Amino acid sequence: MLELKNLNKIYQMKKRHVHAVKNVNLTFERGEFVSILGLSGSGKTTLVSMLGGMEEPSYGDMIIDGIDTKDFSKSQWTDYRKNTIGFVFQDFNLIDHLSAIDNVKLALSLSGKSEEEKEKRAEELLNQVGMLAYKDKFPKRLSGGQQQRVAIARALANNPEIILADEPTGALDPDTADQILTLLQDLAKDNHLVIMVTHDKYLANDYSSRIVKIDNGEVVSDYKIEERKKVELPAIKMDKSKLEIAAAFKISKNNLKIRKRSSYFAFYSLIPAMILVVILGNFIFNLISYKNDIAPIYNNIINSDKVHYLTNLTDKEFEWDLKNILISISKKRQDEEKVRDLEQKLFQPFSIDVLNEIRSIEGVVAVFEPNYYDVTIEGEHFILVGLLPEAYKAYQYDFDFNYYPKDHEEGLILSTEAARVLLGKYNNHPEQLEGEHVDLVIDTFNSLPIHLNTKLEGKNVFNTQIIKVFDPKAKTTLMANYYKGYIYASYGYINEIRNSFTVDDISLITYKELKTDHETRYIPVGTDNLSDLLAPLRTKTMLQDDMAMFTFKTYSAEVPSSNFMTKYKIISDRVLNDEQLNKLKRYGHYESSQYSDYAIYSAKETYDYIETLLKYSSIVVGIIVALPSILVALILYISIILRTKEIGVLKSIGAKSKDIVSIFTFESGVLAVSAGIVAIILSFPLLNYVRERIENLYHLTYYLGSNPLDNNYYAIGFSLLAIVGVITMLGILPGIKASRLHPRVLLRKA
Ligand code: ADP
Ligand code: MG
Repeated sequence: MLELKNLNKIYQMKKRHVHAVKNVNLTFERGEFVSILGLSGSGKTTLVSMLGGMEEPSYGDMIIDGIDTKDFSKSQWTDYRKNTIGFVFQDFNLIDHLSAIDNVKLALSLSGKSEEEKEKRAEELLNQVGMLAYKDKFPKRLSGGQQQRVAIARALANNPEIILADEPTGALDPDTADQILTLLQDLAKDNHLVIMVTHDKYLANDYSSRIVKIDNGEVVSDYKIEERKKVELPAIKMDKSKLEIAAAFKISKNNLKIRKRSSYFAFYSLIPAMILVVILGNFIFNLISYKNDIAPIYNNIINSDKVHYLTNLTDKEFEWDLKNILISISKKRQDEEKVRDLEQKLFQPFSIDVLNEIRSIEGVVAVFEPNYYDVTIEGEHFILVGLLPEAYKAYQYDFDFNYYPKDHEEGLILSTEAARVLLGKYNNHPEQLEGEHVDLVIDTFNSLPIHLNTKLEGKNVFNTQIIKVFDPKAKTTLMANYYKGYIYASYGYINEIRNSFTVDDISLITYKELKTDHETRYIPVGTDNLSDLLAPLRTKTMLQDDMAMFTFKTYSAEVPSSNFMTKYKIISDRVLNDEQLNKLKRYGHYESSQYSDYAIYSAKETYDYIETLLKYSSIVVGIIVALPSILVALILYISIILRTKEIGVLKSIGAKSKDIVSIFTFESGVLAVSAGIVAIILSFPLLNYVRERIENLYHLTYYLGSNPLDNNYYAIGFSLLAIVGVITMLGILPGIKASRLHPRVLLRKA
C-alpha cells in the first residue's frame, strides 16, 4: 500500500548538510502496526514527516496505492494529509482554547459535514477512545493520557488509512502508555496502517506487528513479529478538504478569548479610532455634498454681473435708484408692475408688507440690514459697526477663541488699528485702552447725518466703555471690515443707541446732492418735510425722471424700526432659481427674520475654507484609519509565534494555507466588527456633542450653514464599513505569514 523506494532526505545548511534519511526501501500494508525504533537524531521524525506529507523527500519515491507522490500538487498533498493520514504527536498538540469535542470537530470541519453529523461523529470517535464523558473538558483539564486519547480521536476523524504517531507515549507514564498502545493496536487490527516512532523497544515488542530499526538515517533491521492477514481495501479516497467558515470563525473567536489581553488592547484601541472615523467621515461627506450644492450657486453669484450689492454702489451706480434696480433685477412683467406700484411707497417708511413685496420680486434673493454709524471719539472719526448676532458669533472665533460681547451694555470693541489711532500711531500697547471710558459721538447712522436734525442735538453723545482691543488681522477672519477706521459694538448695544433716539416724527432718507464733481451733501429727509423737500427739487429738471435724480449713497429699501430708519441690503441675482434658493435655505445661508432676510455671503472664502477643511480632515482620517489597523495587524503578527502549534496542527490535519489566512482574516474581522458595533452606539451621542462644540467654537454653521454637520447616516455607514474593511483586510498579512509556517516545525520537537 505504501512503498518507499530509495527515499532520502538531506537538510541543506549553510556550512554542512545533514543526511537525515538515507536510501530507505520499505513497504507497508494495511493492518500492520509498525514500530520505528532508533536513537534520538537517527531520522525517525524526518521519515514519519515524509510519510505524512509534511515534508518532501530530497529524492527517492514514495508510492501510495501505486501512485507516485512526486507528481502531487499542493492541493493533492493537502488532501492527502487530510484524508489519508492521521497524526498523533508526542505532546498531543490539542488546541487549548477548544474543548475535547471541538478539537475533534475541528478536524471534521474540513470535511464538509453538517453540524449534526460532525457532532455525532465526534461523539462516536470520543467514545471509541473512551473519552465521551470528557467531551466538554478543555485540554488543560485533562491528564496526559486523556489528552492523547482525544488527539487519537482527532487523528481518526476523517477515517484515515494511515495513522502516524511520533513518540505518542513519550510524555506518558507506563500504565497510560499501555492504554494508548492498545488503542493503536486496535486501530491496526481494524485494518489501518499504524506507524509509530518510539525508542522504547519493550513497548514496540509488546504491541507492534513489525519493528523497523533505524540508525543514522538508515534502516538497519526490519522484522515482522506476527503475520497479519492482508485485506484488499478500496483505493484511497481523495475528497477536497476545505475549512468551513463556521469553524474558522469559532477558532478565531476562541482565540481572541484566549489571548484576552492583546485582544482587548486591539479592541479598545479600535473603538476611539472608529468613532473618530465615523464623526469625521460624516463631516467630510457632508462637506462634499455641501460643496457640490453651494459652490455652483456661489460661483454663479460671483460671476454674474446681475448681482447688485446695493451697499457697494460705485459712483456711477449712484445714478441708479431703487426702482430701476428693482426693475432691472425683476424678470417678469408683472414684477415690473409690482415695482412701479412700489415706487409710490418708497419714500414712506417701509412696512413689513412693502419689504415683503420687494422680497417677492423675482431675482431678489435677500434683503438684509447692515448697521453702521459714523462716530467720533476724541475727535477721531470711525465707523461703528454693529455686530449682528450671526456676525459676532463668527467673531467669537477671533476674540481669543471664546470672547464676544455678550451683553449690549458692554460697550466698544476696538481693532488694534483703531486703538492706535486713538493713542497715537506708534503705541505698542493698544490694549491699555481696555476699560477706558470715552465719549462716543454718533454723527450719522447708515449715512443719515444725525447732527443735521436739530431735534437730535445732544442725544447723540454716549459715554461708553472700551471693552476689548483685538487684532483681527492676526487671525483668520472671513469678515473684511477690520480696517483701522472701524470699531465694533454688539448688536444689542447698537440697538440701545438706536432706541435712545426718541424721535418719532422722522423717517430719514438722505439723498446725495451733487454740488460739484467733488463735493456732495447729504440731505436728510423726514416724512414731515419730505414733500416740502421734494417740491423744490421737482421744479428742477433733475426731478423730471421722478426718483432718478436721487442718488442714494447706500441703497434704498428702508424699513422703519423703532421709529428710526433701518436700511436693508438687497442681494439679487436673477439667475438664482427656486432650487438654488432652496439649497441656500437648506444650508442656512438664507434666513428670514422679523427684521431682515439675508444671505450669508462669503463665497470665495467659504469655498477655500471647505477645501482646506476637506484636505486636512482627509489626512487626519487617513492617519486614524492607518494606525489602529496596523496595530491590529501587528498584534496578530506577533501572536503567530505563540500559535505555531495551533497552525501546525491545523496543517497536519489537512488545513490549507488559504484556511489559515482566513482564520487570521476572521480574527481581525471579528475585532473590527465588534469594535464597529460599539463605535456606532457611542458615536451618535458623541457626534451630537461634537457638533455642538464645533458650532459653538468655530461657527462652522455660520460659514457653512447648518447642514454640513448633520447626521448623514449614509456617510456614517460608509466610513464604518471602510474602516472595518481595511482592518479586516490587514488581517490577511499575518495570515499569509502564518500559513507559510511549515508543519514540520511541530514534529521536530521530538
Ligand atoms: P529523530 O526524530 O530520530 O530524533 P530527526 O528526524 O528529528 O531525528 O532528525 C534527524 C537529523 O536531521 C538530526 O541530525 C537533526 O538534527 C536533523 N534535522 C532534522 N530536521 C532538520 C532541519 N529542518 N534542518 C536541519 N537538520 C534537521
Ligand atoms: Mg524525533
